[in-house]
Amino acid sequence: MPADRPGIEECKSLGKQRMQELRELQTHHSDDFFSRLEALSWISIKEVIDHPFTKPETFHLVLLELFELLQEVVINQRGPAFLGYFRHIELNFSLRVQASYDPEQRVVRLNLGSLLFVNELGATYQWLYSLLTEQNFPITSDDITRLVVPAPVINEFTALYHAGEDGLPVSGQHGLNHPIGLTILRFVLAHEFGHLIYFAESQTVRTFWENNAESDFQDVIEHLVQSHQLSVRGTMPDEEIMARWTKEFVADGVAFYTLLKWPAIGHIECRLAYPLLQMAIEVFFLTLATVYHGDVGTDTHPPPTIRSYTIRAGQRKLCHLGWGEFFAQDWNIGWFVSELLVKIVKTIKNKEESHEPYRGND
Ligand SMILES: [Zn+2]
Repeated sequence: MPADRPGIEECKSLGKQRMQELRELQTHHSDDFFSRLEALSWISIKEVIDHPFTKPETFHLVLLELFELLQEVVINQRGPAFLGYFRHIELNFSLRVQASYDPEQRVVRLNLGSLLFVNELGATYQWLYSLLTEQNFPITSDDITRLVVPAPVINEFTALYHAGEDGLPVSGQHGLNHPIGLTILRFVLAHEFGHLIYFAESQTVRTFWENNAESDFQDVIEHLVQSHQLSVRGTMPDEEIMARWTKEFVADGVAFYTLLKWPAIGHIECRLAYPLLQMAIEVFFLTLATVYHGDVGTDTHPPPTIRSYTIRAGQRKLCHLGWGEFFAQDWNIGWFVSELLVKIVKTIKNKEESHEPYRGND
């Protein structure tokens, strides 16, 4: 039986009450943090793995990010009603890359293991970050071709590529501390809350967001066809799949625009906040494309690079720029990172193929 959808006033007052509970929890950094967290009636924590795979401070940090994001959404973006909308949040400590929501029961499940995988790309982050801070932007395709990828970065992506269907290789042995990793973590959390925000919104707002997302997606398809990156229009999904993809585009958009307004992580210089977000989003989507051995869509999710492209389309429209100028100016760092990562994955694929055993007739 679906839970009754509460009225807006009820959601608002419940949201305010929960906000207060979170604030109190945050102000006491005591050892009983977890037991006090679990004492909240609307949050539960479940351990679904049987070996210690992470540092407690990492888990703590993920939770704080989660709470801060909730506060940002509640105070600056959508109001307390959102926080009162869902009945329950389940935080699962698992190695799976997954988060889910149940709009009928108003329950959101976050697998925290999925948030930790982003931390396994230490060498990649170091390298990309050094380019961010040392390189003069904007950068051209020629510059990208000239860049030499360090071996540890190739190794990390090869490991991701091999992980494939077994899931991402999460060891959880590292502390979650790199700005790019933290930004990806925020994006993943904000995306999942994006789904919840969507379901808590009025029909008018939902339709407005859906129309925007679909128009951005159309913009991407037009561009990819015109630039010969897509040859046929027949790759368009049917109506039912498109409706599910649209929900993903909406959640991505909510995440992106929420984070855009959020202060930068830690000691990051202000001027780097926006490029860092773009960089992190590209790393996240290209990582997914690598793990699934290609840029493929499913019945529920669009292909990863189409997702990042659709975020770009929204930004491009806001900037009133053609695609060429947009890549050369506003989105330069994001475009540069995705080009680089595609180049790395191609290198890995070619290497794998050249090692394939001979399949002759003899
Ligand atoms: Zn989603």
